Amino acid sequence: MSDATIPIMGDGLPPALREMLGPEFEILEWDESAKSTAPSRAAGIITYGHPHVGGELMDRVPNLKVISNHGVGVDHIDVGAAKERKIPVGNTPGCLDASTADMTMALMLATARNVVVGDRFARSPEFTHYDPSQLIGYEVSGSTLGIVGLGRIGRQVAKRALAFDMKVLYHNRKRDEQAERELGVTYASLDDLLRQSDFVSLNCPLTPDTTNLIGKREFGLMKSTGILLNIARGPVVDHDALFAALNSKRIAGAGLDVTSPEPLPRNHPLLGLTNVVITPHLGSASNRTRNRMMQMTVENLRAGLEGKPLPWACT
Ligand code: NAP
Repeated sequence: MSDATIPIMGDGLPPALREMLGPEFEILEWDESAKSTAPSRAAGIITYGHPHVGGELMDRVPNLKVISNHGVGVDHIDVGAAKERKIPVGNTPGCLDASTADMTMALMLATARNVVVGDRFARSPEFTHYDPSQLIGYEVSGSTLGIVGLGRIGRQVAKRALAFDMKVLYHNRKRDEQAERELGVTYASLDDLLRQSDFVSLNCPLTPDTTNLIGKREFGLMKSTGILLNIARGPVVDHDALFAALNSKRIAGAGLDVTSPEPLPRNHPLLGLTNVVITPHLGSASNRTRNRMMQMTVENLRAGLEGKPLPWACT
């Protein structure tokens, strides 16, 4: 790489990532909705907060050599359009598996055991004495967890769930016999998984196949005591059907790290329900993981700019 400053586009890159990039890069602030001059100059793009990058934008960046995504999910990038244009796309798989699985467990426990409702109650004037009949939740230990998308993150969720003595079912498009042997998880069709699970955890990518994968029909198959956890992407779940299922108590609860849209409009009906716990897309938001994600983002960017294979390419 030459010593000259290299212009790259980045959406709201934080100081720590700018520091890792160092002085050799000129960061062109870029807002996907704004008519910016950044594209005419940039040699690379870092997607930090999931801005949409389609073929039309790629065509406006004549010197584009690489798109480096901070995160593993690349549904906001038209990877096919990048491939057609021979622009490599990098992401950060693996380093966030444990952190995202931890968050899945946090949402499972918070939703099942009334952690958020309980916190509000414990701070309120209504909490006047200990009452053993208050806020009785659903037992996590020994229950059945169904994982939709037993990949890198899903396997880590399974490991944690097994330590809670849970029975673990999974559903992928392809059966994973190695995971079955190594972890002791059991394959199920999506419908059987929905029928048998106390907790259903979505850990698949957002693709055309998984968009609205969980809707009215699927909620109809779940147990009335069932809890849905979405730590994948918001559009995997039909939100109108989710609201109806929660509001009517067709299912017992939901823990959502992601929503559609994100954030939800402040008057969205889901925000008025007490049987849902919502976090603002915190799956990988832990200190060591975020640091590693930034390092991998920079390594992919540098490799692409130098015309080398990306260490973590998703094309
Ligand atoms: P991965 O290793 O590629 O695993 C994805 C799994 O989903 C695979 O086992 C795949 O198996 C399965 N899958 C794909 N399409 C499916 C379908 N139509 N039906 C059922 N299963 C399907 O990916 P990962 O690294 O674990 O990440 C998964 C996703 O988590 C990411 O794409 C991202 O959107 C999300 N994520 C969210 C956060 C957050 O902050 N909330 C953080 C990190 C990642 P088959 O190919 O056999 O179907």
